[in-house]
Amino acid sequence: MKTNIVKPFRKVSLLLGFDTEAPFDQPHQEEDIKPAIYQTITIVKSLNSLFDSYKVSRTFFLLGKFVEKAAKLYNKELIKIFNIDNPLIDVQSHAYSHRQFRHVPVGMNKPTLTPGQVFEDIKKANEIISEILHKEPIGLRAPRGYALGLNNSEELTESVKNAGMHYVSSDLRNKDWQIKTDLFDGHEIRQPRKYSNGLIEMPSHGWQDMAFSGLDIPGVPQFQKWDKKKVDKYIVGHYTELMDKAMDESKKRNKTIYIGGCFHPQAIAVYDGDLKLFRQILDIAKEKEVTVESYTSAFNNIQSLNKKYEQRISNMQ
Ligand SMILES: [Zn+2]
Repeated sequence: MKTNIVKPFRKVSLLLGFDTEAPFDQPHQEEDIKPAIYQTITIVKSLNSLFDSYKVSRTFFLLGKFVEKAAKLYNKELIKIFNIDNPLIDVQSHAYSHRQFRHVPVGMNKPTLTPGQVFEDIKKANEIISEILHKEPIGLRAPRGYALGLNNSEELTESVKNAGMHYVSSDLRNKDWQIKTDLFDGHEIRQPRKYSNGLIEMPSHGWQDMAFSGLDIPGVPQFQKWDKKKVDKYIVGHYTELMDKAMDESKKRNKTIYIGGCFHPQAIAVYDGDLKLFRQILDIAKEKEVTVESYTSAFNNIQSLNKKYEQRISNMQ
């Protein structure tokens, strides 16, 4: 007799998002910018071959200023690198200037854009990305990230939405504004959510990977002083732990749980230049049956679920 074993519902999705920006808002001289651009592009190319071989989609959140400068160095080759005809490559926006949308009370004190300037900054990036890469962005990674994202600022969510964005990933810091976030904020699980104007927030989880490249910021371990093997083990363990936690929650809630990755090619060049760790993380995800996908792919799933739900509600009325 054949028995049907009902597998408990378990679905976890690990989102690959790469903030592609070097040189972002550092006071580089024109000549000093080139090596940073070459380094970033080299890593992007390696990431593309790795993810193509695993058949997983990924998002590159491109800084407008970066695209502008890289286009001068790479000309038409840039279109091949961020090839939007490859269905696994997702090109989105990281705004134009990397100026912050909200005051960030830790780290370097930087000027904050007004909501009107935020609109202009996103629009400018849209124009550059559409002109050079022939893609109209619908998703945005907000520069630096903020505790609780754009909560309590209708002006900001309106600016972002009016600039053409359907989703934003801006909730990238914990309540102490550190660049590490948990799956939970107190008792509340941090998952994609809707602002009152319909804009979707896609929060990130775990360390922003800039930490692994060695930062002198209070609260960030001095990874640059650790033994390389120890750092490697820590990084793989960090993402494995996030996947395990998300699996548990998915089982408990009977819902898909999203883990938002916040990665940077210029940091990867320092901590995982040969992508050995990324390969390990992809293998672990496969073993655990965790879906690995781009932010936009997850956003589309969320939207179609929302639509189905709204349809059901309206059918009941
Ligand atoms: Zn950035």
